[in-house]
Amino acid sequence: MSDFNVIIIGSGIFGVTAALELRRRGHRVTLVDAGPIPHPDAASTDISKIIRMEYGTDEHHMALVEQALEGWDDWNDQWREDGTGPLFHQTGVLMVCRRPMAPGGFEFESWQLLNRRGHAPDRMDAGSIARRFPAWSTGNHVDGFYHARGGYAESSKVVVANLEWAKTEGVVVRERFRVAGLTKDGARVVGITGEDGAVLDADEVVVATGTWVTKLVPELAPLFRSSGHPVFHYAPSNPEAFRAEVFPVFTADIVHTGFYGFPLSRDGAVKIATHSEGTDTDPDGPREIPAGAEAHQRAFLQETFPLLADAPVVASRLCLYSDTRDGDFWIDRHPDLAGLTVASGGSGHGFKFAPVLGGIIADAVEGAANPWLERFRWRPEIRLEHGGEEARHHGKGP
Ligand SMILES: Cc1cc2nc3c(=O)[nH]c(=O)nc-3n(C[C@H](O)[C@H](O)[C@H](O)COP(=O)(O)OP(=O)(O)OC[C@H]3O[C@@H](n4cnc5c(N)ncnc54)[C@H](O)[C@@H]3O)c2cc1C
Repeated sequence: MSDFNVIIIGSGIFGVTAALELRRRGHRVTLVDAGPIPHPDAASTDISKIIRMEYGTDEHHMALVEQALEGWDDWNDQWREDGTGPLFHQTGVLMVCRRPMAPGGFEFESWQLLNRRGHAPDRMDAGSIARRFPAWSTGNHVDGFYHARGGYAESSKVVVANLEWAKTEGVVVRERFRVAGLTKDGARVVGITGEDGAVLDADEVVVATGTWVTKLVPELAPLFRSSGHPVFHYAPSNPEAFRAEVFPVFTADIVHTGFYGFPLSRDGAVKIATHSEGTDTDPDGPREIPAGAEAHQRAFLQETFPLLADAPVVASRLCLYSDTRDGDFWIDRHPDLAGLTVASGGSGHGFKFAPVLGGIIADAVEGAANPWLERFRWRPEIRLEHGGEEARHHGKGP
């Protein structure tokens, strides 16, 4: 396809990686975002996001993460070379349960699939958890595994690094440009209108606005849900106990409790978050952490990480998932409006795919064949019921 003028709305991880890839394919690309990049309210903005290949029985996503992990290694090589330093930290991922793993369970099925695909996770029991990871209280978690291939990425810094690459490649970046609407010529999108009335023309427009997607593409509202999830950063009095070597990324019986967390960050914080149904939250509305959320986490810390139970909270936020009904991404051209592609629906698990997202979105924009796009196609047959709860039980956590 010949070069064309593309506007990408939204510079979270979906938008910035798409901008870079489309530019590298020779297109003229403008990337706009409503705020500074990284935007403080964007889902991609945080100190860390889990990079894991464990997806229960879902071989499609495990295979896609295997590909993404090669990309994370390549990016780390580039970041070492340019002095940024690695932003993907391969701490390994510890997934443990309060009861023995059993068929049908997220951890058991992940364990099975990892082994079937030739990976070598270490099976864990109460004793080995206590020996290898002493910050964990002994005996609460009795089974699970530690998989060395995986860890976390410093998400905000990854967005900034990709943005710098995009600028270097010639992407035009416009910050503090809030898009108020799409300009149309009949059944074709031909540009965007800013809140300030500015009009930008384009051959193709990509809406990569995360959980704000239904504001610009309202016909998707019945299929998406914006859900809020509390995140807390604690400052441990004994940081040594939470270094990655002895405290890797973890999920603690996540399907039943929702708790997951990260090792000590470079700023001395331990991030603990709760994955659950979440609270319906308007992305432009107040971001209030539900009452009781901190107490709920502290009860978990008291039981599981006593050294962290009384640690002060140094940061907290309500971060929003852009949930699709089935928990799968939404990356496709609009069926009725030419010139428009939607790339959203991260559903609480999109960041880990950063190194492959740009290519998948660019293929959608260009109408090129891509095996991963079938799963992410425009699928109105799914209806928003139960707030995507079914998706969560299939392990589509963070
Ligand atoms: C609590 C939480 C924990 C998570 N943990 C993980 C994890 O451990 N691992 C993982 O893989 N994934 C995780 N995720 C999911 C991951 O963060 C998201 O899937 C991903 O970051 C979504 O990126 P995005 O680019 O679609 O959206 P965002 O990062 O939200 O970016 C959207 C951008 O669009 C801009 N925008 C919106 N409207 C407009 C407009 N009208 N005009 C201009 N700009 C606009 C916004 O300013 C924003 O910058 C988590 C998400 C949350 C909320």
